[in-house]
Amino acid sequence: MKNKKLKCELCDEDIGAEKEIEDGVIPTYTTIDGKTACEGCYQQELEYHSTLFCFGGDEVKELTITKNFGYFDEDGESFDSLPLPIKNEKWVNSDGWRGYTEWVLEDGYIKITDGWITGYPEETTRRKAELGEYFEELKNEKIKPPVPIYWIFGLTSNIFSQASCIVIKEKDQDAIEKWLLEINGGLDEFSKKFD
Ligand SMILES: [Zn+2]
Repeated sequence: MKNKKLKCELCDEDIGAEKEIEDGVIPTYTTIDGKTACEGCYQQELEYHSTLFCFGGDEVKELTITKNFGYFDEDGESFDSLPLPIKNEKWVNSDGWRGYTEWVLEDGYIKITDGWITGYPEETTRRKAELGEYFEELKNEKIKPPVPIYWIFGLTSNIFSQASCIVIKEKDQDAIEKWLLEINGGLDEFSKKFD
C-alpha cells in the first residue's frame, strides 16, 4: 500500500509514492475544491495568474488570483477561495491555440465593460492609451471612485494582450455613472475605450 503512487488531480501525472508524500519529501497542494495537485500545477498557476485591483475602498488593493489555489494579498498571505466579486475563473478557447481568461461573477455584481488591452499604450490606439492613464490614476488615487470598482486582468493567448473587465456592485451603477460623467463622458464613453 505504501508504494502506491498518487496522481495529480489536475494534470493526471504521477506525483510520487504515497510514503514520500507523507514524509514531506515530495510536496503536494490542495485546490480550493479539495483536489490534490502537484508542484508543477501549483507553480504554473502562480506564474500565469490573474490580478484583481480594487479601487475606491479604504485603500487600493492588488490581489493575485489562481483559479484552483485561491488568492494571495500583497503581503503574500494566501486565501482558500477566490476574492469577491469572482465566483470562478475559466479559460475560453476561441479557436485552435487561441483563447482568453473569463470570469463568472457572484450574484449582485455586473461587468460595466470588458475587452482586451495591451500592456503598452500605442500611438495607434489612443483610446487604449487613455484607458492606461485611467488605470494609473486610479492606482495612484489621483482619481477615486465613490464606490468600489474591481478591475480584473487575466491571460490571453497573445502575450502582448490581457483580458480585462471592470466590475461593480449592481446597486452602485447610478453612482458610477454619475462619477464617470464628472470625469469624462460617462459609462458609454468609458466603455468605448475598450473597443
Ligand atoms: Zn499536476
